[in-house]
Amino acid sequence: MSVSIERLDVRRIRSDFPILGREVHGHALRYLDNAATTQKPRAVLDALRDYYERHNSNVHRGVHTLAQEATEAYEGVRTRLGRFLGGVEPRGIVFTRNTTEAINLVARSIVEPRIGSGDEILLTEMEHHSNLVPWIQLAKRTGARLRHVPITEDGRLDLDAFDDLLTDRTKLVAFAHASNVLGTINPVERIAERARAKGALTLLDAAQSIPHMPVDARELGVDLLAASAHKMLGPTGVGFLWGRPELLEEAEPMLGGGEMILEVHLDRATWADLPQKLEAGTPNVGDVVAFGAALNYLEAAGLAAIRAHEVELTGYALERLRSLENLRVYGPEDPEHRSGVISFYDETIHPHDLATMLDLRGIAIRAGHHCAQPLMRRLGVPATSRASFYLYNERADVDALVEGLEEARSYFG
Ligand code: PMP
Repeated sequence: MSVSIERLDVRRIRSDFPILGREVHGHALRYLDNAATTQKPRAVLDALRDYYERHNSNVHRGVHTLAQEATEAYEGVRTRLGRFLGGVEPRGIVFTRNTTEAINLVARSIVEPRIGSGDEILLTEMEHHSNLVPWIQLAKRTGARLRHVPITEDGRLDLDAFDDLLTDRTKLVAFAHASNVLGTINPVERIAERARAKGALTLLDAAQSIPHMPVDARELGVDLLAASAHKMLGPTGVGFLWGRPELLEEAEPMLGGGEMILEVHLDRATWADLPQKLEAGTPNVGDVVAFGAALNYLEAAGLAAIRAHEVELTGYALERLRSLENLRVYGPEDPEHRSGVISFYDETIHPHDLATMLDLRGIAIRAGHHCAQPLMRRLGVPATSRASFYLYNERADVDALVEGLEEARSYFG
């Protein structure tokens, strides 16, 4: 049976995002910094306003109507997110501030209690700092050793090296689903299967994949998964950890306080059931509720359609960028093997100068190390320029980028 994927109605989608109507330096905004954060549709902005205008209250503790409404809305998004992730149990979902906090939670609450000197954590050379630094800190506390899967010349994980580095000493394999610099989509199922066979846990940094393609947490076979709402049309200040509930049951809470307890005495306390046990203090109710509207928006557009749109746009952008002489374009050749993130480097222009010149044309790209300094060293550059797409981008955005780049090259070159 073949399933046809509806094409996105990009014009209509664009009209749902008020910010896309603004001008920057007298030019229509061309927002190509979606790997950093995404814009918000009116439905998300409305949900936030509606929450504070009609339902605002603290959750879980109150018996009054507003408290019940706020609790239902907040917990409703947890259930909604469980469906979005392919039908996982809501009690395996913990709301955090962002991906970074979710990864730190895994390090503190799940990995630290079960790791010691001589044990190994396997990461990769393409990780974001938020999937490197918590493990550097953990290694310092526990004496565990960090190993890193190298990348190939075309920006993929070296899977032979992975197979060699994965040993009986490996207690955790933590890696990005999609690289925020190279765009590479990693073979999660293969990695997770081998890790499981060795008895190692797997943590997937899904910050750059979940917003852009259908992701089924259980089908991928990982134990834990982290992502951020702000990269998926939702508000800032919300992220989440999904974990197999059995693992989270054993977790030692990273934060203690209200909401996460069953019973407190002056000298001892017991913990609430999942997921409250791992959500100490008043949660970010309003932003979580608005995140629910973002999930609805993404599902209405269709994750498969969003993915198809980005593959098409990325293919077009790669073709245009690769036609420019002396421009290094990183990552795999085939757009089917990458997300809508393209990093490039031109010897003659510093990425910050390029980003500044493009901004004068209303084009927002990112320049810098993209929180991946070890990867920059591996690529042998101080920084790259990065354009990253989402469902509201169109070919005209790519054309404006390439024209702006050509102008900057002729100015500096
Ligand atoms: N991992 C990856 C792959 C990312 O791209 C990012 C955001 N740039 C993060 C983690 C961290 O996300 P946050 O800043 O929302 O915690």
